[in-house]
Amino acid sequence: MNNPKYQFFCENCSFKRFSNGRDIDDLVEVKSSKIFVKSPYIDPETKKVIVPDFITTKKKFKCPQCGMIIKARAIKNTEKEKDV
Ligand SMILES: [Zn+2]
Repeated sequence: MNNPKYQFFCENCSFKRFSNGRDIDDLVEVKSSKIFVKSPYIDPETKKVIVPDFITTKKKFKCPQCGMIIKARAIKNTEKEKDV
């Protein structure tokens, strides 16, 4: 079974690539510097404490055609997986 789990798509040059998450050795990963998390703050109007969502770094890659940064998107499985 070799169902693709991720799709890479470059908006710049329309490069398309499917991946199962392990066959991306030839793609150049762009390292993100830090995981960025906002701290809670008080909304000046409502006086309520706002807790922002966690912002985590996702893996980014360089497009092999044009060098722009592309992201992997998870493909939803429409087929049921069977255990053998
Ligand atoms: Zn591209």
